[in-house]
This record gives sequence, structure tokens and C-alpha cells, in this order.
Amino acid sequence: MNCIFCKIISGEIPARKLYEDGEFIAILDAFPSGAGHSLIIPKAHVDDVLDMDDALAGRAFALASRLAKKVKAELDCEGVNILQNNREAAGQTVGHFHVHVIPRHPGDNVTIKWGTTKMHESEADEVSQRLSF
Ligand code: AMP
Ligand code: ZN
Repeated sequence: MNCIFCKIISGEIPARKLYEDGEFIAILDAFPSGAGHSLIIPKAHVDDVLDMDDALAGRAFALASRLAKKVKAELDCEGVNILQNNREAAGQTVGHFHVHVIPRHPGDNVTIKWGTTKMHESEADEVSQRLSF
């Protein structure tokens, strides 16, 4: 499979590794928003969260949470974003699940923003019913 993150995991292409266990690696992003922008990546190839076991997704977030605290302590940032994109429509560019950990500083070059829309009560009722679980 022609997957850049699988190649990093197999050692075929280099990366700056921050962490490794049986299930995950954490690396520095090669095209970072700033110093410390890093990625949590499962070793087993899974395309995105929609194809992923919930427990594994939970362990990925737990690792991202640990890394966020490390980033905060070591890099003295004021905030941290933990985010991840699923499929092209959502901005995913590497088709191997990963979680971004992004240190944030006032006035930095990171923009995470969406427009808002007004929903009719009836639509909100229907959507909340359909999404209840
Ligand atoms: P996404 O757009 O959420 O799929 O994020 C993919 C991320 O992978 C981007 O932030 C890229 O900068 C990063 N990336 C792409 N190639 C590499 C690489 N060889 N090593 C480390 N990070 C990479
Ligand atoms: Zn892969």
C-alpha cells in the first residue's frame, strides 16, 4: 500500500519520533504549523475514524492528551488544539488515521474556524432525534 505513514512506521522513510508503543507512534509533523505540531498515528493502517475501532480511537485520544500536556510543559505555549480530519471533504490529506496536536500561541498562524448557520427548531428536533444514541 502506498501510504506515507505506513512507510514511516516500517522505517522506510524517516520521521522525528517522539513516542512509540505496540499500537502507536507519535512524530513531529513534517510541515508544521509551528514548533511542536505533532501527530499520533496507529501502527495498523486504518483510513480514518469512521473505519476505526472505538476503543483504539479512545487510546489515540488518551495519547494525544498526554502529548498535549508534554507540549504545554516543554514549549510554554498558551493553548493546544487536538484535532483530526476524516476524509477529503473534511480536509484529510493523508489517508491513514492520525490525530494532530498543535501548540497555540497568541497571534500564531493557525486558523480553525467555521461559519455558523441558523437551524429551524423542527430541523434541530429531527436531527437530534436521528443522532441520539
Ligand atoms: P491531514 O491534512 O489531517 O491529513 O494531515 C496530514 C498531515 O501529515 C499534515 O499536517 C502534513 O504536514 C503531515 N505530513 C505529511 N507528510 C508527512 C511526513 N512525511 N512526515 C510527517 N508528517 C507528514
Ligand atoms: Zn497507512
